[in-house]
Amino acid sequence: MRVILLGPPGSGKGTQAQRLVERYGIIQLSSGEMLRTAVATETPVGLKAKDIMAAGGLVPDEIVISTISDRLDQPDAKRGFVLDGFPRTVPQAQALDELLKRKHLKLDAVIELRVNESALLQRVETRVAQMRLRGEEVRVDDTPEVLTARLASYRAKTEPLIHYYSERRKLLTVDGMMPIEEVTRQINRILHALAGKKPAKKAASRKRRGMGTRKAAKKAGPRAAKSGVKAAAAAKKSVKSRAGARKRVSETLRKGAKKSSARIVKKLTKRRVKA
Ligand code: ADP
Repeated sequence: MRVILLGPPGSGKGTQAQRLVERYGIIQLSSGEMLRTAVATETPVGLKAKDIMAAGGLVPDEIVISTISDRLDQPDAKRGFVLDGFPRTVPQAQALDELLKRKHLKLDAVIELRVNESALLQRVETRVAQMRLRGEEVRVDDTPEVLTARLASYRAKTEPLIHYYSERRKLLTVDGMMPIEEVTRQINRILHALAGKKPAKKAASRKRRGMGTRKAAKKAGPRAAKSGVKAAAAAKKSVKSRAGARKRVSETLRKGAKKSSARIVKKLTKRRVKA
């Protein structure tokens, strides 16, 4: 499983990345964390990055690319990874494409966490308050002023990646304004639809409890059904052929969406394939 999480600061990339790590046994590559470690340990990269990060700017592409490239070469990256914070610019995305090509690896999906900008400041303030309560060191760039600069960098340099990956049929969008659990559920649904199967862990646990897919979907309730529709719509975007799209969409719908929604998705699939 190789996934990129894309979204502005405070969109929940870190939280969701950790959940993917636990669920799929892959590693999290957070460029922000890696750079913060470099700053804290005063490596040459850290010394270059320190002031830029404190001001909310972007560290030069070549520094970040080589940091990520080295990390991807390590054996634990073989099982897969979730990238959080990288790529952040079009040249970084191109470099990643090149890196993966060289390693004969394929990216499974780019998941965009879409959030209202107005909610981000509040989220970051909450994160700061929680870190203080836990006695953790607060990030120097988690202030309202620097957050404004980080958001500006996101808009100017990172948002173009939405277009970049959607053109390459890799982009899937999740509503990042929903509760954390619901965002996780949607991401999982998307990934299951893409893989065409459930992760062994969940399937096995359901089997143990004697619960079939239908029963599980019923138990998950109407919310899951709704998210199934979105996941299905997202899944269809990522597959090339009409037959493939139908197959995967119906697979996803079977997992929890309402029957009436199937018709809508079918229509959408048709329209997209025609276009
Ligand atoms: P957030 O996404 O919440 O702003 P991160 O922890 O991802 O925070 O990144 C913190 C800072 O590290 C960024 O503001 C930037 O200065 C630097 N950084 C992280 N990833 C990259 C990257 N891929 N390219 C350039 N700079 C980066």
